[in-house]
Amino acid sequence: MITFGYNCPYCAKQDVAFTVRHIASNVADTGKYCGQTVHNVFATCNHCFNGISAMYVLNDSDRYINGMPSANGLISAVHDNIVHFYDDIFERKLDWFPEALKPDVPDHLPEDVKRKFTTAEKLYFLSQHDGDMFDSAGTAYRTALELALKYLDDNSDKNLNWRINHLVKNQVLVKPMGDFAHRIRVLGNQGTHSDISLAELAELRLFTQLFLQYTFTLPAMIPNVAQVTGVVG
Ligand SMILES: [Zn+2]
Repeated sequence: MITFGYNCPYCAKQDVAFTVRHIASNVADTGKYCGQTVHNVFATCNHCFNGISAMYVLNDSDRYINGMPSANGLISAVHDNIVHFYDDIFERKLDWFPEALKPDVPDHLPEDVKRKFTTAEKLYFLSQHDGDMFDSAGTAYRTALELALKYLDDNSDKNLNWRINHLVKNQVLVKPMGDFAHRIRVLGNQGTHSDISLAELAELRLFTQLFLQYTFTLPAMIPNVAQVTGVVG
């Protein structure tokens, strides 16, 4: 049994144990690896049982695994009852497919906005395989927007609709950004009523990302641009 830790692209668990289930070995008779033994490795997540795969090419045919030449040794290590750790079997990290999803969090966010947006991203990944998570992800993106708006105005006792209109009226938000914020609000509301679609959730994610980039990331980059270009004041 060969086991290793990996961030699961399906259930989104971090560093969860995977078990190698199958290795198919063939000598390539054409292409980039012609003449070399190519191993296709298939492993499953111990938590959700979904699978990932990777190609592994051994350059050294004299390598022994489990006391046998590499191809046979690898296969015996998959099927025996001894727990083999990844590093004892493979010489290097493999490029697993699919890759683990990573939260795509804009830079320079206030800590609480960053935390909430990261949570929304994790829920979004979970929702790709579990439709019950749609509404939780939708609500989390909407909450990230609400927290972000607190940095623009402190009328936090007012409802979100009022606050967005107020920010546009006072020219804190330009009209198109107000429209963006309203779209996030409406989609987030749909999330709380469990009638948001996968496509709408993807739109909600993109709009929230763009709104946060415009509000926090771009303004924070301006001093760096001035430094780079030598512009002062
Ligand atoms: Zn999993």
